[in-house]
Amino acid sequence: MSSNPARIIQVVIASPLRQFFDYLPAEGKLAKDYLVGSRVQVPFGRRNITGIVIGHSDSSAIAANKLKAILSSLDSVALLDQEMLTLGRWMSQYYHHPLGDAILNLLPTKLRKGGAYDAYTQQYWQISQHGLGLDDQALSRAPKQQSLLNRLRQQALDEHSHAAIPEQQITAEGHSRTTALALAKKALILQSSRGYYPRDCQSLLQGEGNDVLPTLNTEQRNADQLIEQQLNHFATVLLEGITGSGKTEVYLRAIAKVLTQQHQALVLVPEIGLTPQTIQRFVARFKVPIAIFHSGLNDRERLAAWTASKEGRARIIIGTRSAIFTPTQNLGIIIIDEEHDNSYKQQDGIRYSARDIAIILAQKQKLPVILGSATPSLETYANVNANKYRHVVLQQRAGNAQPPAIELVDIRRQALHQGLSDQAISAINSTLAEGKQAMVFINRRGFAQLLMCHDCGWQAQCSQCDARLTLHQRPATLRCHHCDFRSAVPSHCPQCQSKNLMDVGQGTQRSAEALSDLFPQHTILRVDRDSTQGKQAMGAQIERINRGQAAILVGTQMLAKGHHFAALSLVLVLDVDQGLYSPDFRSAEKTLQLLTQVAGRAGRSDTLGRVLIQTHLPDHPLLINWQQHSYQGVKATLMAERELYSLPPITHMAILRADSTKPQQAMQVLSQLLRDHPANNHCQILGPLANIMEKRAGRHRAQLIIKSPQRKALHNTIEQFVQQFEAAKLPSSLRWSVDIDPQDVI
Ligand code: ADP
Ligand code: ZN
Ligand code: ZN
Repeated sequence: MSSNPARIIQVVIASPLRQFFDYLPAEGKLAKDYLVGSRVQVPFGRRNITGIVIGHSDSSAIAANKLKAILSSLDSVALLDQEMLTLGRWMSQYYHHPLGDAILNLLPTKLRKGGAYDAYTQQYWQISQHGLGLDDQALSRAPKQQSLLNRLRQQALDEHSHAAIPEQQITAEGHSRTTALALAKKALILQSSRGYYPRDCQSLLQGEGNDVLPTLNTEQRNADQLIEQQLNHFATVLLEGITGSGKTEVYLRAIAKVLTQQHQALVLVPEIGLTPQTIQRFVARFKVPIAIFHSGLNDRERLAAWTASKEGRARIIIGTRSAIFTPTQNLGIIIIDEEHDNSYKQQDGIRYSARDIAIILAQKQKLPVILGSATPSLETYANVNANKYRHVVLQQRAGNAQPPAIELVDIRRQALHQGLSDQAISAINSTLAEGKQAMVFINRRGFAQLLMCHDCGWQAQCSQCDARLTLHQRPATLRCHHCDFRSAVPSHCPQCQSKNLMDVGQGTQRSAEALSDLFPQHTILRVDRDSTQGKQAMGAQIERINRGQAAILVGTQMLAKGHHFAALSLVLVLDVDQGLYSPDFRSAEKTLQLLTQVAGRAGRSDTLGRVLIQTHLPDHPLLINWQQHSYQGVKATLMAERELYSLPPITHMAILRADSTKPQQAMQVLSQLLRDHPANNHCQILGPLANIMEKRAGRHRAQLIIKSPQRKALHNTIEQFVQQFEAAKLPSSLRWSVDIDPQDVI
């Protein structure tokens, strides 16, 4: 083993191996020529792949003659700064995920695949004050420099154009970049870069800043002041405000202050909360460039927004989960809207929580995080109770709006018309008669819940999942909502050949149809994943709703979040019962959060809202508690249950998941692992258990649930399991993964 100063370059690549790899510089290069945080092309096995430099070293455990050399460097700047690399390392440790994967995950796809970083930046050159003052013969011994200097002087003196010229233009005129750099070294000319964007770029908008500021009410003012006091240092603030209480207005005020300090602001919203309406509020408020990240962007648009944020041109960054990894120049605040939302937790690959990562980042960069919600997660409440977070509450609706009146409708033994009770129908009737809108919420898209044979009881099942197929219309298909399997609707029962097939249960399509039969003279608008295909579809539908004519909206939870429909006064919820009885311990919490959000769409302007909840469980204690005391009232009951059963947030939890194409295999592997596992008295290990839906997308699933009151003990145990997995000879049909702080536990 030889030792020279920093001769070795440490590189991570996307690989399941939990380590970095040592490389030598290419011929004629030094290790330090490869910037930490930049991408390199390296030989690995028989392939050439993209990696990221994470450090240099003077020695390697590998013999020098066994080390390979880097093929090429892809960047002249670091794409990931030290802070981002530290975050990648932290994620790798905390989520027990391979290092290279964790770090590469921080880059947008286009860069991960080796695409050019500066595709959307242009270099500009202009003469400096110093250069302007120089005699126009002063550089006669360097004629190329003199010529370029004169060209830039002429440009600066021309009143009709910008002093800065794109580098492309000056090179096209015969000047070279080397000449420009030589002049820049003497401070005679200046370099700058400007973003240039792909055409019709949906990811970068110029804010207009032309709306009228409302006067804050007392509660909003308190929140505003509390947040102002937290600027420029680390703090987490829970902004708990009922739906329509003006939380967004509080965010906007905080952002305004951050922008005056020349800092950038990062706002995360749930996947279905990033509506054109939300974006419009930011555009209307701030006259600055805004970067937007959502799943509808293509790789080019994503990269353009990423670059603009990294270089500090985009002053506000709004996006869904993965936007938390957007690099910035000088971030001043992170805002997480609807902090309890499930979409902040990644459910595959590296299973991170964007909310938790926001807090880690804020701690490192010394800035505040605002967690906003009408229905905070129990995890967040626990942190408030432990005095880790500050807490400010908005209990009143902003402006003149009042909270809606909530009624439970007992539908036991009642005749239903396609799922609608008499009470619901007459409520819709009177709402429409007043010229208002009604919303019917049903958490299932498609036409009917299932297709069944009336003669023998056969039900259409997914062949890949332990699940029934949902019946859809236009086009008529049976679809699996878990794996997206599709098949034609059979004309007769495959089991007994009977033609007596019946569709059972409600979906959005059927409800919409039933409503248009009942109210033929009114517009019925269906909003669910099927009806909003295409980038603009959702926006177009929202616009129709906001024109405000009497109408009925039918939809899934896509309608539940973030929308502000001024004319909506009635909300009708068709089915909540399932959510209250699911085996997942978070199910009741999630159901009541969703109910609160849905109910919160009613009466957000001047008319009083009304919410009807149809249920077969009108005596359910949680439902009654929620109706009487709202979400704030039920949280104590939910928390007591977690305490009783030692569940998060009272304890910490992790899940080891395994799945296989072969039945029983995941169970067997986990059982063996558990038998070989060293005893640990600080952790409770449950399982292995088959998942409730044992087979999904053709894979048979099982899991080990690990709980501990101590984080450290939990992490140690998981680390031991990971090592066991790594050491074991596993069949190739088996996949395994670690889920720290899991959200879905069934
Ligand atoms: P939340 O985010 O808490 O659901 P929003 O911020 O969307 O609530 O506010 C609900 C509505 O009230 C919006 O139309 C908003 O413009 C309006 N609003 C917010 N604050 C005020 C205020 N202080 N005075 C009048 N209207 C307000
Ligand atoms: Zn049959
Ligand atoms: Zn399926």
